Amino acid sequence: MKQKLFGLTLKQLQEITINLNLPKFTAKQIADWLYKKDITSIAEMSNLSKKARQQLDEKYIVGLQAPSTVQTSSDGTKKYLFDIGDTGAVESAYIPEDKRNTLCVSSQVGCKMRCLFCMTGRQGLKSSLSAGEIVNQIRSLPEWHDITNIVYMGMGEPFDNLEAVMQSLEILTADWGMGISKRKITVSTIGIVPAMKHFLENSECHLAVSLHTPFESERKMLMPVSHVHTIADIIKEIKLHDLGRQRRVSFEYIVFDGLNDTKKHVNELARILNGINCRINLIRFHSIPKTPLVGTNEKKLMQFKEALNAKGITTTIRASRGQDIDAACGLLSTKQTS
Ligand code: SF4
Repeated sequence: MKQKLFGLTLKQLQEITINLNLPKFTAKQIADWLYKKDITSIAEMSNLSKKARQQLDEKYIVGLQAPSTVQTSSDGTKKYLFDIGDTGAVESAYIPEDKRNTLCVSSQVGCKMRCLFCMTGRQGLKSSLSAGEIVNQIRSLPEWHDITNIVYMGMGEPFDNLEAVMQSLEILTADWGMGISKRKITVSTIGIVPAMKHFLENSECHLAVSLHTPFESERKMLMPVSHVHTIADIIKEIKLHDLGRQRRVSFEYIVFDGLNDTKKHVNELARILNGINCRINLIRFHSIPKTPLVGTNEKKLMQFKEALNAKGITTTIRASRGQDIDAACGLLSTKQTS
């Protein structure tokens, strides 16, 4: 079976060209075709010699994969579905706005983290995506030239698939790759501390941590990962890194009625986040089947936001997009599991 070139780093492409006795600059040319231009076959790499193309063609394919379906929301959000081998499918959400177009990508088929509020977590982990399968969600969309921001907030926990996620970030941000600014990419995690540390030390992309409550006991109930990686450990690790002015750390916070939207929560958030240059993104809860959790109402959501802002924490409410096609993060893949 032929191997895919798409998803390889420049270094890995260089190993291939060295093995085929091709000129040194060929790897860079191949990377250009893979990550900057609209081609789908080796035959289209027109600045490579005919012999080089033939040699590559014997063992390799480009390996791009078009989405199998697309659904478009009344607000313009599109949800793309990508088949992944025998294990299932992942979804990506394209969210066009006035000044930016964001793509939310997935990193795993299913997820083993079992967060109480998430449909993907109910599937269990089926497989982790390769770097190529992650970047393919961007590159194979008709809108790929228009994408300005990328968030790793789709299906799966990115730091449970660290190596492939780091490789995908290299391809997305390198000059030889897609050349996207590191400041336009956000990786979201539930806080797997050793992997988060590796990311903070080896990438300059933004970090978003799903916090959802400042209290350990509540977080253990909402997110079983908290039994292993506590809020205190997450905050301690973030404080060890000098994140500078350009790099952003944000905390994601789904607001549940009566559970995590009280004055007590405001005060504790202000206490634990003191000293971190960060923001909080409040998220409306889009209910899932068979859950005791209820989203807070709009009035209380605004009050919670204002109370946090009054404490000096920049707090925003994330706009809900693509609800009619279940494209909201955390709802991805609802259809297959309900
Ligand atoms: S919220 Fe994220 S980490 Fe938690 S179960 Fe869902 S996909 Fe996994």
